[in-house]
Amino acid sequence: MDLHTLTLRQAQQKLAAREITAKALTESLLARIDQVEDKVRAYLSLHPEQAMLAAERADKKLAQGQGGLLCGLPLSVKDVLCTENMPTTCGSKMLEGFVPPYNATVVERLLAEDAVILGKVSMDEFAMGSTNENCAYKDNIPQNPWKLGYVAGGSSGGSAASVAAGECLASLGSDTGGSIRQPASLCGVVGLKPTYGRVSRYGLVAFASSLDQVGPLTKDVADCALLMQVIAGHDQRDSTSAKQEVPDYSAVLQDGMKGVRVGIPHEYFGAGLDGEVEKNIRAGIAMLKEAGAELVEVSLPHTEYCVAVYYLIASAEASSNLARYDGVRYGQRAAADSLIDMYRQTRSQGFGEEVKRRILIGTYALSAGYYDAYYKKASQVRTLIREDFAKAFAQCDVLVSPVTPTPAWPLGQKADNPLALYLSDILTISANLAGIPGMSVPCGFSAAGLPIGMQLQASHFNEAVLFRAGWNLEQQAGVKGKQPDL
Ligand code: GLN
Repeated sequence: MDLHTLTLRQAQQKLAAREITAKALTESLLARIDQVEDKVRAYLSLHPEQAMLAAERADKKLAQGQGGLLCGLPLSVKDVLCTENMPTTCGSKMLEGFVPPYNATVVERLLAEDAVILGKVSMDEFAMGSTNENCAYKDNIPQNPWKLGYVAGGSSGGSAASVAAGECLASLGSDTGGSIRQPASLCGVVGLKPTYGRVSRYGLVAFASSLDQVGPLTKDVADCALLMQVIAGHDQRDSTSAKQEVPDYSAVLQDGMKGVRVGIPHEYFGAGLDGEVEKNIRAGIAMLKEAGAELVEVSLPHTEYCVAVYYLIASAEASSNLARYDGVRYGQRAAADSLIDMYRQTRSQGFGEEVKRRILIGTYALSAGYYDAYYKKASQVRTLIREDFAKAFAQCDVLVSPVTPTPAWPLGQKADNPLALYLSDILTISANLAGIPGMSVPCGFSAAGLPIGMQLQASHFNEAVLFRAGWNLEQQAGVKGKQPDL
């Protein structure tokens, strides 16, 4: 049996019934990686020995009936999350060979539930990008498992590609401006960016601290609920993590859509939206209606400013966060005669082009004389964007839209055009600016066989309604269970 095709839930049942062992499951995932990784290129580092040891421990616990929620389930983790015994490079030469002295809280929580971590997956350098092509390790740029030679999306491209290709059962990614939802959509998997503060950021290498969130990428909505249950909740080591109770996400999946108001923001169906994407999303909306939802038209009038506001705020925060890479404490240090020269050489050699571009934009936006015109103005418009959502959520419970204006495109096609890539983030970045949760759920395919995802967004800490709507969509969309030919 092809164990790599199982969902987390299916594998969990087989393990509990002792139909399979964690060892056999992990071996089968490692064999799958062996078979397809040459084509997919999702992993930056693989750790088969650690994984097999974890699987053996999981089998012992299962035999004693003491396994945690993820006991024996093989996962991948984006290389932006600190892992004590595995390198964490953030897709950058700056952190080549860096092994953190501690685990991120989310990693600790996976391990506490007896998960098996197979390895660390590829990403755009410091999570800046939308195609994974900004990864500094050019042999490790993931391909879209549905169409090799096409982008897997970014920045969590390795997470999405590894799940879609059956190279793990699920993954953790991070989302600052769409980096979980966009690759999930392009690779036909489920991805959730939780509410800001829902999941601890401790041990997540910071890109833009007021926007970053960790979240799951999974094969289906039920798996997403399971993984969220493990990673969500307060952490005293992250002062922005919320003290809110975590509801039982799995319990609401089958609650149906009766009484749920689904809002359609007309600004998200504007010029530039691909015809096939629009057709699939409209069909998905009809499915939600069929399931009992009430449809309402809503408006998010400040949508057109989101891209500009995001790229100012995210870059400003990045320029400050990335100041720590100076050759003194982390990763690379260039040889030089003076301290200043060492800083200069280390940063010139260690960072790639896109990261330098963001640091330059951010430093400019924060500098004396320009701060009021750029950073302060962007922060003010951010408040207006938040208010748009608050008004929309007075009229509806969940907002539906496309995730990306187009399906995946060929690798290289937009690689030299940063502005075109920034503009393609238009539908995802507002959730980060507002701090609200957003989910991408597969809802169809283009004629060329590329996946199309629907975005569902809800008010702060209302992930439950996303699980409800996502599960309903998944039941009807007929995408679940489809596997790419590799
Ligand atoms: N494409 C966005 C950017 O380059 C998204 C990044 C992210 O969510 N990490 O900033």
